[in-house]
Formats: sequence, C-alpha cells, structure tokens
Amino acid sequence: MDLQTPLSNLTGIGPGLLYKLSRLNLNTVEDLIYHFPFRYDDFSQSTTIKDAQIGQVVTLQGEIWSIKNIFTRARKVITQAIFNDGTSPIELTWFHQSWLTKQIKTGDRLQVSGKLTKYRNKLSIIMPRWEKITDQLYPKPYTPNPIHTGRLVPVYPETEGLTSKWIRIKVSQIMPQVLAEIKDTLPDSIRENMLKLPEALEKIHFPSSWKEADLARARLGFEELFYVSLATQKTRLEWEKKPLLHLLRFNNQDLDKFISKLPFELTNAQNRVLKEIISDLEGKHPMNRLVQGEVGSGKTVVATAAAYLVYKNNFRTLLMAPTEILAFQHYETISKLLTPFGIKVGIYTGSRKKVANDDVTIGTHALLSEKLNTDNVGLIIIDEQQRFGVAQRTLLRGRGKLPHFLTMTATPIPRTVALTLYSDLDLSIINELPEGRQKIKTHVVPQKKRAAAYGFIEKQVKAGDQAYIITPLIEESETMQSAKAATIEYERLQKQIFPKLKLGLMHGRLKSAEKEAIMNKFKKGKLDILVSTSVVEVGVDIPNATIMVIESAERFGLAQLHQLRGRIGRGKKQSYCLLFSEIPNKDNISRLKNLEKIDDGLKLAELDLKIRGSGEIFGIRQSGRFEFKIASFSDLDLVEKTRNAAKKLLQDNPTLDKYPTVAGKLQSLAPNVMPD
Ligand code: ADP
Ligand code: MG
Repeated sequence: MDLQTPLSNLTGIGPGLLYKLSRLNLNTVEDLIYHFPFRYDDFSQSTTIKDAQIGQVVTLQGEIWSIKNIFTRARKVITQAIFNDGTSPIELTWFHQSWLTKQIKTGDRLQVSGKLTKYRNKLSIIMPRWEKITDQLYPKPYTPNPIHTGRLVPVYPETEGLTSKWIRIKVSQIMPQVLAEIKDTLPDSIRENMLKLPEALEKIHFPSSWKEADLARARLGFEELFYVSLATQKTRLEWEKKPLLHLLRFNNQDLDKFISKLPFELTNAQNRVLKEIISDLEGKHPMNRLVQGEVGSGKTVVATAAAYLVYKNNFRTLLMAPTEILAFQHYETISKLLTPFGIKVGIYTGSRKKVANDDVTIGTHALLSEKLNTDNVGLIIIDEQQRFGVAQRTLLRGRGKLPHFLTMTATPIPRTVALTLYSDLDLSIINELPEGRQKIKTHVVPQKKRAAAYGFIEKQVKAGDQAYIITPLIEESETMQSAKAATIEYERLQKQIFPKLKLGLMHGRLKSAEKEAIMNKFKKGKLDILVSTSVVEVGVDIPNATIMVIESAERFGLAQLHQLRGRIGRGKKQSYCLLFSEIPNKDNISRLKNLEKIDDGLKLAELDLKIRGSGEIFGIRQSGRFEFKIASFSDLDLVEKTRNAAKKLLQDNPTLDKYPTVAGKLQSLAPNVMPD
C-alpha cells in the first residue's frame, strides 16, 4: 500500500462505500490521510460510575447485563442496555439504531464514552460511543481502546452512511502502513521547532493530548499557507526578471490634457492609483498590477487614462471584459473619452470579429484568439476577470518581450488574502466613491412582508423606476438548474404578482445575442423588472434601476451580496435592496443584517472571513481552490509567519535548486497553488 493506492484496493471497501467516499472526495489512501477531523470529543478521562458526577463526560469499562430494542408508539426504536462497571449499573440508550442488538450481546465487555445524565429517573448515558473490549486484543487489565473511546476522539466530516467511526477505524489501520513513506519537504531552517510532517499527520488524527492536537494543526496549517505564499512570491520574482517590450516615457502636459477633458474631477483615490500605474508604466519591468475598487468607484476612467498614455508612446492597448455586454458598455464609454484625441477605438468579440488594428481594442475572450494582431500591444487591461492568469498566459504565449498588465476587480481583498494569494501582484485600491452617490437602503425582509414588498416595487415602477429580482444561487457550475429556477420564478412573477408590468428574464443559458437584446431593452426602459440569476453582468450600469430583490440571500457571502447590490444606487434617486431568506434562522438573519448597516465591501469581506471562512471570498482566484483544510485567511499571525518563511527561503535561493524537496512539492501542487 502506498499513498496513491485507490481505496477500492483496500479490503472491505465495496462499491457502495466507494461511492460514499467519493462524495467526500476521498479516492486514494492519501485523501483519507488528509481527511482531517474538524473537532475532537474529549473522552480521555477514564473513571468509574461511583466516582462520576452527573453532567460529566466519562469513559467507563464494564459488562452488558442486558440489551433490547423497544418500539415506541411513534414507531421509533430505542435500544436499551443495562451496563455495569462493577461499581454500579447504569442504562445506555440509543435511538434509531436497532441493529445494535445484533452487534452487542449480553455479557459483552465494552468501553463506553458519553455524558452521564439522569434519564427517566435513572443514571444513563444517551447515545454513548462504544467499543468492544475483546480479550485477545486487550488483555486485562483493559488497555484503553486507541480509536474512539477513552481518549481525544477525532470527529470527521461525514456523509450519509459513512460515519466518523468508520473513518477513524480505517485511518487508524492505514496510518501505520504509509507513515514511513511520508516525507517532510520543509528544510529544518523553515520548519524550526514545528512537528515533522508524518508526526503531524499522525497526531492530527490521534492526539494524546490537546497540546498535541494543537501542534499538529499548527504544522499542517503552516504547510498549506506556506506553499501558496511560496508560489505567488516565486511568480513575482520571475515576472520581475521578464524583459519589457519597450520603455515608455510620459510628459505631464499629455496627462493634464486628458484629465481636463473629463466631464468630472477625478477623486483623490483615482488620482493616487493613476500615479501608481504611471510609475509602473515608466519602469523597466512589465507592470503586473491589480486595481481593486468598489463597484462604481470609477476604475474605467483610470484604465482609459493609462491606455491614452500608452497611445502617446505609439503603442496599442487591449481591454478584455468578461462578457459581450460589458465589452460594449466599455466600448461606448471609452470611445467617448478617447476619440476626441484622434484615437481609434475598436471592438472585438465573438459576434463582431474583425481585423483589429485599432489603437485601443475592446473585446471579450475573443481577444485571446490567435488571429488577433497583437503587434505593438504595450498594455493589456483585464476587467472583472475571474481567471486572469489563464488569459495572461495565453496572451504571453511565444512572446519574448512583454507588455504591461493591468487587472481591475470590484471584489474586495482582505489584507491577509492580499499578503498571500496576491503577493505576485502590486495592488492599488480605489477606496473612495465619486461624490454625490446615494447610500442604498438595505432591508432584510421577513416572509410575512413579501406581499407588501411586491406592492412597494409596483408603486416605484409605476413612478418610473426599474427593478432587478435576483433568483437563488444554485451551485455556480449548475447553470442549467439556475436557469430553470429563474424561468419558473419569472413566470410566477409575471403571471401572479406583476401581470400589468413588463418583465424580462436573464440567465447564463441564453445566447449572447439574446442577453444583449434583453439588457438593451432593460437599459432603454422597455422592461420594468429584470428577473435574473446572480451570475450575469456584474458591471452593468443602469442608473434608472433603483430596486434589487435578492432571493435566498443566505446562500451568498456578504461581500458577494454587496457586489450584487452595487448594480443599483448608480443614479441620483434613492435605491433599495430587499433581502429575502429561505432559512430565516437567527444566525442567517443577524449575518444578513450586517448589510443594513455596513456599506464598505472590504469590511463585509473581512466579516465573511470571520463568520464563514475562506470559502466565502468570492471571485478572482477562488473557484474552490483555496479552501484550506486547516489554515484560514482570518489567521493573520499564520499568514505573516508563512509569508516571511517563504520570503526567507527565496531570498536565500530564488530558484529553489538548493531545496529540491520544496521545489518538487511546489511542482506537484502547481495547479492548486500557482496564481491564476
Ligand atoms: P467601476 O469602478 O465599477 O468600473 P465605472 O468606471 O463604471 O465604475 O464608473 C461608474 C460611473 O462613475 C461611471 O458612470 C463614470 O463615468 C462615473 N465616474 C467615474 N469617476 C468619476 C468621478 N471622479 N466623479 C464622478 N463620476 C465618476
Ligand atoms: Mg467596471
């Protein structure tokens, strides 16, 4: 057996179990070893019934005096046993486990763990953990069973039909057989006094004390974050060595001319970020900068200024948007800003391809096509792009000398995330909105006020406003199902709620021409309400839309909800965001209520981190890849520690050739930790 052995090769694992295991993404021995407990039950204190207190969690050794199933009138099964440890009898009670009478017989010796209580006036343990003490395995005096009683007992993420108990028995059988094969990749200078990897893996499953469990978690959390930090920092070092296409030079009059023609004054934040970009553009290395700014903070004009300056150096700019609608929107705005200077602006998308030799070409993924002429491109701008690394690599393919790269996003980036995931990029933050923006009034609406909410929407629409109704988020990949759900909701709303209003439907399964047509209708005011899934068109700018309803809001992260509501509140009128929850329990409601008070995207993202962990940082590099098992982006100490360790290693040896084990591990993790 080795780490790569498929679980199907192990004895006692048939197709049924294999299927259940695969549902937990457990396919190989290695997967199982890396399936960590998320908590432990402390059954380490062995005692006797006579000495135990009611309410105490105890581990007892004794004998079963009787065991039977009782069927209640409500057709429930209760399994009841009398157990005696030699000091006193107690009752053991299990619910819905009638098969236990087949496994446990009168006279069996057991070790049981659980909380001592009074149940129906008798000393009892309800749903105890149990383990048989067989003479050949545990000669008297009884050795505490190493697996799930009498110690810190690991509790694992389970799935139906696959229990924690099964997992911990399997792991305990496999562990000794593969432990010798697991090598620690970290050099001692980095590992310092932390546990070695094999030790940490063993102790995380079977710690003999809380201290050991902590040490194991610390070591494994370090491992996870360290390699991500190392990957991004190494990428950065490599990027900084790349040769630049051409040294650009600017003069201030040029920039002033552009700025003086704008219909508004740039905000301080826009000015600051523009300066940061210009200093990169004048540098000797290609820029690799990420501009983060709330929806509506005015990233487009900053990017346009950069394109303008690049044009002044006789170089071209490509701007890539995630969808055709956004590409057209940019094309309109940017044309208006640049054509007065005699700059040729063109569009290049799937439906409107043409040979593009414009000074500034705006398009979608179609820009990645080999057919596009990319001669003389000095700047590439990527807007709201999820996987911009992929785009970057494609655009760089076969190029010796590089253009500058600028990426823009509205996704807030918590500090710890910036320090690790984004340390290959320079970060600029537009942390200010242009003056005169209205605060969006946000309300978490109880179901009993739903009708009133619809009445309010109807009233506002009749007064000339428009509304979005966002249908529930189903798994991001399941566009088919989301589209169906959106369609059903659209029909319900049109027929039953708003028969007199004009509704439109938007979802990911529509063809881009259809999407464009609907968006245009909405933009021109020919639709009153747009029923839409959440996946479409994050950046659209329709100032007359002042209401947004979000259904099943509890399924979204706070930062994501904030980004969604950023589509309203763009004009002068007061805007309203109404959040409905399908599961209106206390936790969900109080989490959602944060949106009523807070309108800072970064604060909301930090809250997401605290409340729901890393998985909630939506967008850019997420797509499920950085859901660490142990490390968390909310742990600033660990983030700084791993970041410094990675830095130290790269300073000592940028190519990592002195550390083949580290380089090898990085290589094997590449698809998961390399920036993209
Ligand atoms: P985002 O950062 O979300 O991409 P946009 O660039 O689309 O935002 O800008 C949103 C709106 O704000 C646009 O209509 C734009 O013309 C306007 N805008 C940008 N900068 C300013 C400014 N400094 N003052 C006033 N309006 C601005
Ligand atoms: Mg934008």
